[in-house]
Amino acid sequence: MHDPLSWISDELSVLDERGLARTRRSVTPLADAWCELSGKRLRNFATNDYLNLAHDPRLIKADRSVAASAGCGARASALVAGRTGWHTRLETKLAQFEHQEAAILFPTGYAANSGTISAIVSRGDVVFSDRLNHASLIDGCRLSRAETRVYPHGDLAALQRELKAASQARRRLIVTDAVFSMDADLAPLVELCDLAERHESMLLIDEAHATGVFGEKGRGVAELKGIEERGAIRVGTLSKAVGAMGGFVAGPQKLIDWLWNRARTQMFSTALPPAVCAAAAEGIEIIQREPWRRERLLTLSDRLRSQLQDRGVESVPQSVGPIVPVVLNSARAAIATAECLERAGFLVGAIRPPTVPEGTSRLRITLTCGHREEDVDELAGALAAALRKAG
Ligand SMILES: *Cc1c(COP(=O)(O)O)cnc(C)c1O
Repeated sequence: MHDPLSWISDELSVLDERGLARTRRSVTPLADAWCELSGKRLRNFATNDYLNLAHDPRLIKADRSVAASAGCGARASALVAGRTGWHTRLETKLAQFEHQEAAILFPTGYAANSGTISAIVSRGDVVFSDRLNHASLIDGCRLSRAETRVYPHGDLAALQRELKAASQARRRLIVTDAVFSMDADLAPLVELCDLAERHESMLLIDEAHATGVFGEKGRGVAELKGIEERGAIRVGTLSKAVGAMGGFVAGPQKLIDWLWNRARTQMFSTALPPAVCAAAAEGIEIIQREPWRRERLLTLSDRLRSQLQDRGVESVPQSVGPIVPVVLNSARAAIATAECLERAGFLVGAIRPPTVPEGTSRLRITLTCGHREEDVDELAGALAAALRKAG
């Protein structure tokens, strides 16, 4: 019988041979950065729940009580009838938190990036995108049909040349991660603002890994670098440090009005569940009231970096914050080391192409403020041992 999908089996075996097939497993999350996998309790160093809020009793209580009254799903897109008082309250809270006029919710951070870029540039415009930007920014560029110029990671001179060459375009837009997700380095936001101003370009900053984590008040790398008043479009996620789910853009009222009218990923997708909005609002509240969470997170992150250094683990690139990459080059080495750590009681991410460039497979360790000092020290010890064994 003709099997129209037979090509998939062939392609999957190719992935398998190259060590690039991804296994699909299910993890049971437990409180305080523990989890259960195949019947075994592990310390979870593969979560983006940086502030340990996903399991916080206050978020759970907010979610439960709203679900009990408003139900589970939102029932419609925000545009039609899905936007409830819980959505408007969260948007107001986000605008206040970010010191912006207004904010708009999206179903996910992915949808916020792809929908915003494709709403503000199109044919005849040029987008400038850092080579290491997140997939949701890349897909936004593709979706927009604007001409996309990818510049080498952090290369301001190359970006400036591209901006000059595009001076005749209708609109220009620079897009960048604030913290790059796989390398954990910060974008040069001051210089990017300078370039955007000099070349009359818009600038979009994706603070997915930075909201709640960086800046004295937790407003991200834009706060840390003092560029909040310089007009960049700020995108964030509620799915990481905030402990809930969803994406948002905060900015001037006119931008938010435009996205309400033109961002297809929020217009043609069902609104976030009201209970999720309530949980996210609680998360934002806690981020404002409990700065000790991000302080502890950054202290633990420094602790892991120095522990690894003390134990002779040299493959940690220059990085800051709760994402600690350990570059192991081959995909097989990354998998083998992650498995070894799993046997020792730690869950860490093994990241392979196409998520990272060929030859730069890595472990991606992420910390949360719910980890204990001894968890961090033991992980460093186990990792050093695993790497010694692998030779
Ligand atoms: C996780 C992530 C997103 C997507 O956010 P979700 O809410 O998970 O869809 C966007 N950008 C970056 C840099 C991310 O790491």
